[in-house]
Amino acid sequence: MTQDPTPNDLASYWMPYTANRAFQRRPRLIVGAEGLHYLTDDGRKVLDATSGLYCVNAGHGDRHIVEAIKKAAETLDYAPAFQFAHPQSFELASRLALMAPGNLNHVFFANSGSEAVDSAMKIALAFHRAQGEASRTRFIGRERGYHGVGFGGMAVGGIPGNRKAFGQQLPGVDHLRSTYDRDRQAFTIGEPEWGAVLADELERLVALHDASNIAAVIVEPVAGSTGCLPPPKGYLERLCAIATKHGLLVIFDEVITGFGRLGHAFAAERYGVEPDLITFAKGLTNGSVPMSGVLASEQIHSSLMQGPEHVPELYHGYTYSAHPLATAAASATLDVYRDKGLFARVLEMEREFGEIFMALREAPHVADVRPIGLMCGIDLVPAAEGAGVRGYEVMARAFHERDLYIRVAADTIVVAPPLISTLDEVSEIARRLRQLLNDLV
Ligand code: PLP
Repeated sequence: MTQDPTPNDLASYWMPYTANRAFQRRPRLIVGAEGLHYLTDDGRKVLDATSGLYCVNAGHGDRHIVEAIKKAAETLDYAPAFQFAHPQSFELASRLALMAPGNLNHVFFANSGSEAVDSAMKIALAFHRAQGEASRTRFIGRERGYHGVGFGGMAVGGIPGNRKAFGQQLPGVDHLRSTYDRDRQAFTIGEPEWGAVLADELERLVALHDASNIAAVIVEPVAGSTGCLPPPKGYLERLCAIATKHGLLVIFDEVITGFGRLGHAFAAERYGVEPDLITFAKGLTNGSVPMSGVLASEQIHSSLMQGPEHVPELYHGYTYSAHPLATAAASATLDVYRDKGLFARVLEMEREFGEIFMALREAPHVADVRPIGLMCGIDLVPAAEGAGVRGYEVMARAFHERDLYIRVAADTIVVAPPLISTLDEVSEIARRLRQLLNDLV
């Protein structure tokens, strides 16, 4: 098979969240994908251990999804999203509402996780104003949370690196402590025993700011991008109870945890709690076409369906909300998840998946291992040269030397393979990782 030659000018494309200069010195180019593998420009098959960026839950190139996108492109390339719609938007929203917990019955579509988060934050503000509580403008996020790169999401997120270059973002944001405490939680499979008490921080912040000034608290049920931090047992239940007691909305950012990563359509189901808003993206279309959304409760939606009938009830939307290619991709993806029983498969595999990676605790440089669902954070001891140096080396060497694609966050490896992976394939990921860790000086 002939390959396109590697482009010899890598300067024009400003790559996102990438060490651009290092990339240009030694590029990592992907030209194809099938099942669990990427195909590189030099003809190698690379095992995808992080489902792209946690999105390709059904594996690459699923034919049902590909055909649905092709058909949509041939039938309706675009339909205006404002004041008009195409039928598949309603069909998809109804399906998602059925999959969602409790009375989260209404879906607002966007195109990325970042847009979903900013949409959810705006819906929260609009809700409180509609309720006559316009002073509720403050948001509470959490340290080590990641909610994308919009101004709202960046502000409620808790990653210093994402703020350093941009200064103050939204005023009126405060943060809970991260739920991670290595001394008390290291090497736990699933939810750690200790830490529910950390939810009580919300009481402290409510006392400080006064409930009448707070719109919502936003958390990822399992913090994903900062290294897979499972919630302590009972934490989310306690957090939701405190929020509800004080009239704060709860936003679960399920951009990673949605669509099976934790064995359920949404993590809210795993934890038996009902947030007021859920953001989702990634796995919705199996990564094939950008699409995201917000699930809103009946109460929020009905409180906003007011005013003159010719006026939009919510002044918010995107040109590409519910794009026809995206709705087709999403509907087909949901078919695949259902027909292959992929969410239940995660629950069946979870224990052994966890044990496979926990065995890496004996490998060199490993400081913690945190598996949950079909996802695992592996903390490495930082190199003497500084934070992130070892993580970068591991990511690059995994790709070049071990035919393994992994995502790293500073010095944490995050493994989250497609949900179609077998335990043998999962073991192969762990085997290649161990070899790599053995090779590091
Ligand atoms: N929220 C969470 C929990 C995420 O993990 C991400 C991306 O990883 C986002 C939001 C942002 O999504 P996007 O990159 O599609 O804007």
